[in-house]
Amino acid sequence: MDFLSDFQNDRKWCSACDGYVSYLMSIDKSFCAQCGAEVRLFSEEDWIAFSEKMEARKPGRRRKKASPQKGRRDSA
Ligand SMILES: [Zn+2]
Repeated sequence: MDFLSDFQNDRKWCSACDGYVSYLMSIDKSFCAQCGAEVRLFSEEDWIAFSEKMEARKPGRRRKKASPQKGRRDSA
């Protein structure tokens, strides 16, 4: 999905326009080129998806459900 990264490089999410828009950058904020509202990198939804992805990449402590068959001795 190369086009997506290109796309998101020069677009940001404007919640007022409810979409990704071209934006104007100032020193620490970016503004929608269409309506002047502050824009953000991701939409709410994308941000959640993004953080979930990052969360999933952490080395998690996933416990495998180990079921050692100890103490099971059929008369052999
Ligand atoms: Zn806007």
